[in-house]
Amino acid sequence: MNKNHQITQNDRELALVTSGQPCSDGAGVQLTRLIGHNELTMLDPFLLLDVFQSDKLQEFTGGFPSHPHRGFETVTYMLAGHMRHKDNVGNEGVISANGVQWMTAGRGIVHSEVPEQESGLLKGLQLWVNLPKEHKMTAPCYQEFSAEKITIETRDDGGEIKVISGKTNNGTAGVIVNNYVKPTYLQITLPKNASFEQNITIGDNAFIYVIFGRIDIGKTKKKLNENQLGILTDGTNVNISCLTDTSFLLISAAPLNEPVVRGGPFVMNTKTEVMQAFSDLQNNCF
Ligand code: MN
Repeated sequence: MNKNHQITQNDRELALVTSGQPCSDGAGVQLTRLIGHNELTMLDPFLLLDVFQSDKLQEFTGGFPSHPHRGFETVTYMLAGHMRHKDNVGNEGVISANGVQWMTAGRGIVHSEVPEQESGLLKGLQLWVNLPKEHKMTAPCYQEFSAEKITIETRDDGGEIKVISGKTNNGTAGVIVNNYVKPTYLQITLPKNASFEQNITIGDNAFIYVIFGRIDIGKTKKKLNENQLGILTDGTNVNISCLTDTSFLLISAAPLNEPVVRGGPFVMNTKTEVMQAFSDLQNNCF
């Protein structure tokens, strides 16, 4: 390619829409799996996205009792309610509404995640971000921020962008420091008729999840509704128009393009590495 070649602006469009699949995980937590189901096994480097949303105690109270992870990162973003986490090396805390926990499981942790409320709405998302081959066995690490610590960019139209990671077009940077995969993770909340543009590195995989309201995307104006996840085509940027008051997540990252072998809570590059993880867990090597 000519060194002086200028990349022309190329709007991303809506390529695929999914409402996910209802499922139950942990001790009977009812959730919707948006990434990591039959129709959408992954969106490299994103391995899984779950949304839990209920005000019925019996649908979430059991939480996710003690379980291991190895080979990736889990990003828990709460929208309502409280989730207590506790691991096998003494880390413990509560993630509350609009707080985020970015946990690099690396070579492994064993933890529990249990809702801490007697009533009211529990709503949140958990995203699994794969780790590159050479960092799968890195030391576990937490980054945790409560709502008031998260960077917010305010807009003239009354909207706001919560910047968990990455950078907005105005240069507002997120609170999370990513050493491996470097996703952009934004929550964008806008009034009806607002429009929004975000640059996204060409080649990155990107998706939008609508928390509430309705938007249209790109020049084709394809619509995305509440609770739907839309995967974007490749391009340099995305343009969004708000058909109602709305809030949505925009998440993107460069694909790893490495082999993915899953074994329950372990995601490695080979079957042997997954077997090793089960063996290490049995031998208390986590
Ligand atoms: Mn977990």
